[in-house]
Amino acid sequence: MVTRVTKGRTPIERLRRRYETTDTKCPDCGYVDEEGNWTSGSNGGRIVYRHVCPSCGADREHVFRLSG
Ligand SMILES: [Zn+2]
Repeated sequence: MVTRVTKGRTPIERLRRRYETTDTKCPDCGYVDEEGNWTSGSNGGRIVYRHVCPSCGADREHVFRLSG
């Protein structure tokens, strides 16, 4: 995937929205988290999105590398 910084809206923001709105179903128990409780943090040039299922506690992570 090519990530490019565009004016105004960052790819990170778009990714965050995407996960918050589409990736809400727990693959383990099938619970759909309507709240989209993704947390984000940066870690040495990477952005880590993390979600913990409120039902079964399974956690998922998506990691993105920042360019520049
Ligand atoms: Zn779950």
